[in-house]
Amino acid sequence: MKPSDAREFFRKTFGADPDAIGSAPGRVNLIGEHTDYNGGQVLPIAIDRRTYVAIRARPEASASKIVSSLESTVAEFDVENIAASGNWWDYITGVCSALTAEGVRLPQFEAVVQSDVPTGSGLSSSAALELSAAITLAQIADEPIDLKKMALLAWRVETQFVGVACGVMDQFASALCRDGHALHLWCDTLETEHVAMSEAVLIFDTASPRSLRASEFNKRRAECEEALLLLRASNPALANLAEADPEMIRRAHLPATLEKRALHVAQENRRVEAVVQQLKRSHTLRGELLYESHESLRDKYECSTPELDWFVEQARKKRGITGARLTGAGWGGCAIAVGAREALDALAHEITPAYEQQFHHKPRSWLTSASRGASIEATTK
Ligand code: ADP
Ligand code: MG
Repeated sequence: MKPSDAREFFRKTFGADPDAIGSAPGRVNLIGEHTDYNGGQVLPIAIDRRTYVAIRARPEASASKIVSSLESTVAEFDVENIAASGNWWDYITGVCSALTAEGVRLPQFEAVVQSDVPTGSGLSSSAALELSAAITLAQIADEPIDLKKMALLAWRVETQFVGVACGVMDQFASALCRDGHALHLWCDTLETEHVAMSEAVLIFDTASPRSLRASEFNKRRAECEEALLLLRASNPALANLAEADPEMIRRAHLPATLEKRALHVAQENRRVEAVVQQLKRSHTLRGELLYESHESLRDKYECSTPELDWFVEQARKKRGITGARLTGAGWGGCAIAVGAREALDALAHEITPAYEQQFHHKPRSWLTSASRGASIEATTK
């Protein structure tokens, strides 16, 4: 998908040219799972699929209008009087409302959204929508675009306006990633660094039911909080669970389940650091750490599924693939594999029929490499 596609869609829809076109990508996390809400580190890349927003200001109009290529319902609302509606456009009207609260004066507008980011697969189409809208709206309002500020604004929209309790990773990745680089993000301080990463990544969506996710996820969060409280009894200075030393955790004699959860978080956080060091040295990922991460998520955090484990085992057997793991919260969803592009491509083709036969779900897969974050693609000003 290209900016010209969004322009064409805008012309067809509104019979005129847009004033500005902006875009933002989906993302996938390479390593650092369940570390974000424990104050730890993550390492996402932007994928090479993007959401484009094309906008024309209509200061004389009494309402605004948005059309999405993925939705049949058209959004119509007054930019000066916004309320959450429970519809897909809340991600954009929420951005309007947050920009207005920051003192940005937004005109009424017409917009189209065109995207090839898969929705609802855990690749963060929601952050891509928020960020592409945020920067394009800021552009037509003549506001300077600070991408980190935009990421935080979009995160507030998702958590407070739409009401999805997510960490900051999705919005930071969609806003700040660079082509050929992973984004090393410290979720407690919001510091970031760009780390060169040239390898291809296969994303495999197991398309399996995620019915357990919400309840189990909440349970894990509670377990992490409890583990932190217990650890603080003997280590009052401990800032968060990700910072805990694995030895400190073992010495604390936590209840068995809490010890497993805490060890996963602490060791996973160290694995992020180790992968970053490796990338800095060689620009390639040390796959063994991805397999370790998967095993820890499977055995200590207990958030894997037979489908995700099966994918990782298939990847492990294939020559040319250096690492694989589940990505995202788990309990269904996606896994990744890294290595040589041809090997990843061949893996996806070879395993799809066997997967369908064994699990009776139709998987989807995408081959990507580290891509660029949000950017203005075109403007008439
Ligand atoms: P994910 O972010 O993992 O793709 P979410 O459930 O967080 O999944 O966000 C998906 C939702 O975001 C969709 O159901 C839809 O409401 C909205 N959305 C994302 N992209 C678009 C788009 N291009 N057009 C309209 N709505 C979109
Ligand atoms: Mg999302």
